Amino acid sequence: MSLSTASSDAYLAVDIGGTKISVGVVNTARTVVYESRISTPTTQVWESLAKQVSGALAWSSANNVCLLACGVGCGGPMRVDEGVVSPLHIPEWRDFPLVFEMKELVGLDVVLENDAKALVLAEHWSRREKNINTVPSIMMSVLVSTGVGAGIIADEKLLMGRTGNAGHIGHVIVQENGNKCACGARGCLEAHISGPAIERAIGAPASKANIQTRVAAGTLLGQAIASVAATMDLTDVTVGGSVALGFGDEFFQAAQISARKHAGLTFLKDLTISPVADRSLAPLVGAAALAKYSIEHASCL
Ligand SMILES: [Zn+2]
Repeated sequence: MSLSTASSDAYLAVDIGGTKISVGVVNTARTVVYESRISTPTTQVWESLAKQVSGALAWSSANNVCLLACGVGCGGPMRVDEGVVSPLHIPEWRDFPLVFEMKELVGLDVVLENDAKALVLAEHWSRREKNINTVPSIMMSVLVSTGVGAGIIADEKLLMGRTGNAGHIGHVIVQENGNKCACGARGCLEAHISGPAIERAIGAPASKANIQTRVAAGTLLGQAIASVAATMDLTDVTVGGSVALGFGDEFFQAAQISARKHAGLTFLKDLTISPVADRSLAPLVGAAALAKYSIEHASCL
């Protein structure tokens, strides 16, 4: 699907989620100029993805678009340094050499990261474009979809942590002896507010959740954000992902009230939780932002 006329330079963007796979071309002005989206297949995932990517390459070539690099956002677990992924919701991919395969296919530098880190890069890019003077020195974006994760940018750099796993807010404990989490612990945020967790709780897809469920999920998210905000000294938090955006205003209001209630320290008085700027396009813009970031910080990823 062609969305508009492209400028000449752009990034190839790939977002591999539990329910959908998107491939796009995002120009240097942050506009998604080409997008193709499919439901995540249960078999022959690489073959389907390769077909989508080939479509994007053909479109770029036909429209005289110069692709600078390729960014790939994907659900974990993954070993970024080896370019290998084992997404929980793609059973066919275990230690799948995604970066190698993508490089062979596209002939570009390929940068892989988890989708939550891509999300915060998209938000950071958006803020920088609007007004570079208002970009906070530290900011966090939280992804609430099939899984729950976060990306943090501090002093213009993506926070990686010792093993590249910084940002796993989904495993902040929000309920003593709560739901069992895939990580083995009990009461993790992800075990209570991810799409599959909501579905287990209500016996229907998360999109059917009633207002009480949405408010309860927002309240738990706000609680976890308050803890991280105090730890990291940050007040600027954006949230994206299909569950959060689908839950809408009630969810965000509950998260905001809960975060303020649990964040009593003076330096957290401005703690604000809002939806990501690019809404449902954020994962693709985020994948493009990964490619952009890798070019700007060649030694960091
Ligand atoms: Zn956990």
